Amino acid sequence: MKQLTYQVTVLGGGPSGLMAAIAAAENGAKTLLIDKGNKLGKKLAISGGGRCNVTNRLPQDEVIKHIPGNGRFLYSAFSIFNNYDIIDFFEGLGVALKEEDHGRMFPVSNSAKSVVNALLNKLDELGVTIMTDTPVEAIDYGTESHFIILKSKKKIETKTVILAVGGKAVPYTGSTGDGYAWAKKAGHIITDLYPTEVPLLSNESFIKTKSLQGLALRDVALSVLNNKNKVIVTHKMDMLFTHFGVSGPAVLRCSQFVVKELMKGNKQVTMEIDSLPSENDQELYNKYIKIMDENPKKNVKNIFKGIVPERYLDFLLTKNDIDDEKTANISREKIRNLVHDFKHFKFLVNGSQPIEKAFVTGGGVSTKEVIPNTMQSKFMNGLYFCGEILDIHGYTGGYNITSAMVTGRVAGMNAAWESLA
Ligand SMILES: Cc1cc2nc3c(=O)[nH]c(=O)nc-3n(C[C@H](O)[C@H](O)[C@H](O)COP(=O)(O)OP(=O)(O)OC[C@H]3O[C@@H](n4cnc5c(N)ncnc54)[C@H](O)[C@@H]3O)c2cc1C
Repeated sequence: MKQLTYQVTVLGGGPSGLMAAIAAAENGAKTLLIDKGNKLGKKLAISGGGRCNVTNRLPQDEVIKHIPGNGRFLYSAFSIFNNYDIIDFFEGLGVALKEEDHGRMFPVSNSAKSVVNALLNKLDELGVTIMTDTPVEAIDYGTESHFIILKSKKKIETKTVILAVGGKAVPYTGSTGDGYAWAKKAGHIITDLYPTEVPLLSNESFIKTKSLQGLALRDVALSVLNNKNKVIVTHKMDMLFTHFGVSGPAVLRCSQFVVKELMKGNKQVTMEIDSLPSENDQELYNKYIKIMDENPKKNVKNIFKGIVPERYLDFLLTKNDIDDEKTANISREKIRNLVHDFKHFKFLVNGSQPIEKAFVTGGGVSTKEVIPNTMQSKFMNGLYFCGEILDIHGYTGGYNITSAMVTGRVAGMNAAWESLA
């Protein structure tokens, strides 16, 4: 059977693989990009609600802070190509970007297609060979070159190979975890895989009875507590009650901390909602006691109306056994408990949706075994990693795509240089 020979072969055409192939070809390597899907960049096209959240404009240190899964590993790569370089790169491709809340960058067109097409045009311009509908089955590692074994049993010889096949989240986009076995074969450790940026499950009665289903709380401070009731992390964003538990931006950000607590063997994890994070407990209590004293004939619900969404207020009033009665008839203790719930409503979560429904995969190829300024394997010549296959995960907001593109760029450049040396 005829063998094809390439200097750099990139497996996977997500943001990391597309960027890696562009970087490899720009640096003079004969480059092949293989993807099992019928289209490249499927997950990129659905990111940011289909508008493609290409990167984030926050300062580099902030971006790295928003990548809680081994973000610090990226410092070396960021010194070569960072989030601002991504912005320049896309503007250079003719894709104008705009900044939205929290530094998130989107194409002005609001269309993921414009981003994906710009990358595809660049690959075309650089003469990168593209094989779609081509699942890779295995890799035979050699000393001078490696062989990519396709599902069709065809073999492709390549001087260097870049694993950019992603993680296990949302498998219909093509990311089905195929690359972990190939990394293991080269001697790499795959750290435990788990869902991150994922909705959480709860057996609380108010979830089961769907009392709060569909209710969104804006700008709350949501915390994850450990089994000593100490706060592990707090995120101030919106959240949503669902029929199975909780979701929304604050929940997604907290989710990996919950999952890690559950992975330690805890059956359930406590979360706490501060629905009025800019108010102090005692001041809040004093404020409302004063209002109540001044309005003894007013109904209690009217006193607190508008402080939180009405459904949430009704829920907390019921929880604290407060009927909609005159303020003069309510005990101070009940009001103190109600105010406490505005600030510290605790509930239990006992799981998350599965990794397939998560936005991002936690765990992956151990970063300890990858050279941070080249993305090369510490064990195998000519083997490189980039993107979500690595044990790197960030919050949603452009941080994962940034990590994918930065590691892709560095892997592509270095694979090209190694293959041409
Ligand atoms: C709905 C959704 C929204 C998201 N929104 C955001 C966001 O707003 N901000 C953010 O930063 N991140 C977001 N993410 C995460 C982000 O999209 C991913 O982290 C990123 O796409 C990972 O890039 P990657 O190149 O590593 O892998 P992927 O994008 O997963 O691409 C991997 C590619 O490899 C191919 N492949 C896999 N196995 C094989 C094989 N055996 N043979 C050949 N090809 C193979 C696949 O077909 C696929 O095209 C979102 C994810 C999802 C699911």
